Amino acid sequence: MKGRGGPISLYVHIPFCELKCAYCDFNSYAGLEELMGPYVDAVCREAALWSQAMGRLAVRTLFFGGGTPSLLPIPLMERLLGALGKHFHFLPGCEVTLEANPGTVGLQYLKGLAMLGFNRLSLGVQSFQDDELQALDRLHTARQAEEAFGWAREAGFRSINLDLIYGLPEQPLERWQATLERAIDLGPDHLSLYALTVEEGTKLAYQVARGLVPPPDDDAQAEMLEWSLERMAAAGYEHYEISNWARPGHRCQHNLAYWECRPYLGLGAGAHSCLPAGDGWVRFWNVYSPRRYIEALAASAGPPADVVAGHVPLSMPQVAGGEVVDLDGAMSEFLIMGLRLSEGVSLEEFRRRFGRELLEAFAGPVTELSDLGLVEERDGRLRLTRRGLLLANEVFVRLL
Ligand code: SF4
Repeated sequence: MKGRGGPISLYVHIPFCELKCAYCDFNSYAGLEELMGPYVDAVCREAALWSQAMGRLAVRTLFFGGGTPSLLPIPLMERLLGALGKHFHFLPGCEVTLEANPGTVGLQYLKGLAMLGFNRLSLGVQSFQDDELQALDRLHTARQAEEAFGWAREAGFRSINLDLIYGLPEQPLERWQATLERAIDLGPDHLSLYALTVEEGTKLAYQVARGLVPPPDDDAQAEMLEWSLERMAAAGYEHYEISNWARPGHRCQHNLAYWECRPYLGLGAGAHSCLPAGDGWVRFWNVYSPRRYIEALAASAGPPADVVAGHVPLSMPQVAGGEVVDLDGAMSEFLIMGLRLSEGVSLEEFRRRFGRELLEAFAGPVTELSDLGLVEERDGRLRLTRRGLLLANEVFVRLL
């Protein structure tokens, strides 16, 4: 199997939030601010372990996600980026993204980020309706989101994403339309539009289970997505992934690495990684709890011997578990992730990576999905049809 070698994408997880949002099941916590310093030290130590184990890996994208990375004060951010620069080799033109919560950033802070080398900002706006923001437990207002966008431009960010959520409980189409129109008016370079989902263990799941809030309506969400597809195209955005639109030249290179099954390394609590190993690849994940993650790295003297010998490091102190992805698993993962992209999966690339024909390896399900009008093969690529896009989860289940 080929294709996991070469430069990596680097992810850094920052698990701190001011308040836990109603719908959120990410590895994020409110009230742990006192851990910020020790946590940053632990991530710096993890970066050092990796460079001891594997040398200074070349990095093509860096992404700070969370949580709310924009809660980290500039001096801590500087310390962290200094360590990353020491232990990794950032390639020229490297995309460096920070996820930010609009209520947490000011002009000076954004200027500080730009000075440190961040060149892409992803603002978690979610809605431009204040009552909807309150229902989601977001701490910012629509006005603050607009201000943050303006400051980001003033600070020099030439690539800005806005995250929005549609299909909120009882949200009429017109209110979603108003939110998206306001977003388009700002002129962001990238938009991520997500359908609200109810995740187990969240406040929203509790509210839905008790009948306090109705569950999201699939038909309403499909209608909103269909309208958004038209509207975004008219506004000049390319729809390049199920939930993502970009102006030409502004596709998120970091997320493309996940969808194109290229190697990535995650630093921080609960971060996931996928790296080449022998003929295949290995996926592994870090200790989930920020406190345990800090403890694991504080106690470690250095990378274990097998890591120093160059093996993929399931025995690193911060790694909680992992699995080797075999050929069958890798092929279906490559297909499912690739179908998320509007351009679909290249049959040639599949052959190059796995030495097999995609249409033979998945003959049964692909024929069935094709007969149902959910996928189509065109110009050497297999992709979702418009109907397949609206029923994407059903398509993916059949390919597992
Ligand atoms: S700010 Fe983001 S990561 Fe934090 S709780 Fe809200 S949705 Fe989750």
